[in-house]
Amino acid sequence: MKQVLCPNCASPVAWGPDSPWRPFCSERCRLIDLGEWFDEGHRIPAQDPDSAELVAQQNRD
Ligand SMILES: [Zn+2]
Repeated sequence: MKQVLCPNCASPVAWGPDSPWRPFCSERCRLIDLGEWFDEGHRIPAQDPDSAELVAQQNRD
């Protein structure tokens, strides 16, 4: 069976129906990784829409 490494803790994970959280080794690793992803995704685009909106408002007046 193919094995992958858990992106969070680098544990070997069997790639198959026995590993519901693949490519993560566990639900915990999956949530941790998603949490970091969401955190980053929230932080970076948050500034762009704000400043884009400000520019749009200034142009409108
Ligand atoms: Zn893991």
